[in-house]
Amino acid sequence: MALPHADPAEPAPSSTAPGDLSTRLGAVSAGILDAARVADRDPAGITTIVVTKFHPVSLIEQLYALGVRNVGENRHQEAQAKAAALVDLDLVWHFVGQVQGKKARQVRAYADVIHSVDRASLVTALGSDESNVDCFIQVNLTDDAARGGVHPLEISALVDNVLATPGLRLLGLMAVAPIGAEPRRAFARVRDLSEQIRTQAPAATALSMGMSQDYAAAVLEGATHLRIGTAITGNRPVLG
Ligand SMILES: *Cc1c(COP(=O)(O)O)cnc(C)c1O
Repeated sequence: MALPHADPAEPAPSSTAPGDLSTRLGAVSAGILDAARVADRDPAGITTIVVTKFHPVSLIEQLYALGVRNVGENRHQEAQAKAAALVDLDLVWHFVGQVQGKKARQVRAYADVIHSVDRASLVTALGSDESNVDCFIQVNLTDDAARGGVHPLEISALVDNVLATPGLRLLGLMAVAPIGAEPRRAFARVRDLSEQIRTQAPAATALSMGMSQDYAAAVLEGATHLRIGTAITGNRPVLG
C-alpha cells in the first residue's frame, strides 16, 4: 500500500483524533437529518447507535463528550469489558453481534438492547423472570445461514417464541443489507416483513437497519435504529 507520508519516522495523524471524530459525527448527523427531511420523517424517531467495536474505551469516552449516548458492540468479551470500564457513564449498550447460547446470560447482564435474536434456543437462554431486556429479531436476507439471522419464513414462529418468553421485550426487526444488493430494496423488504408481524406483535414497530454505507437508504425505508461504525469512528484498528 502506498504511504501518503514521505517521512516514515513521522507518525500518520490518528484517524481517531477528537477533532476528526466530531467532524465525522457532525457529517453523519447532517446526513441523517437530510434523509429524514427527504423521507418526511421526524428525526427524533431515529436513534443513532455508534458501533465502536475494535476501538478502545477512550474512543467511547470521546464520543460521550460529544453527546453520544448509544453505543454498539458485536463481540461479547470486548463489549463486557468496555461496559464494565464505562459503568459510570449513562450509556445505552446495544449488542449487535451473534450471541452464543452459553454467553446469553452474560450478554444480558450489560446489554440494554440485543439486536441479534435469531433462534429459539437463544430466546430460551435469554429469558428471565427477574428483568426485561429489549431485543430485535435479526432477519437473514442472504442465502448464507452462517451470516446470522432467522430465515424470513421463520420470523413468525420466532416472534411467537419471544412473545411467550418472560424477560424479553420485542422492539422489532434488525437486518444487514446483503453485500452487492441494492440496500434500499433490501430495507424495503425488511419493512414489509415488519408490517407482517404487526398482527402478532403490534408494539414491535422498530427497525434496526442502516450502516455507514447505506444509512440514508435505511432512513428512507423507515429505520428507527441506525448502527453506524466507520463513518463516525474512522477505520477500525487492525488487531495485531
Ligand atoms: C460493524 C457493524 C455495524 C457498523 O458497520 P459500519 O460499516 O462500520 O458502519 C453495524 N451493524 C453490525 C451488525 C455490525 O457488526
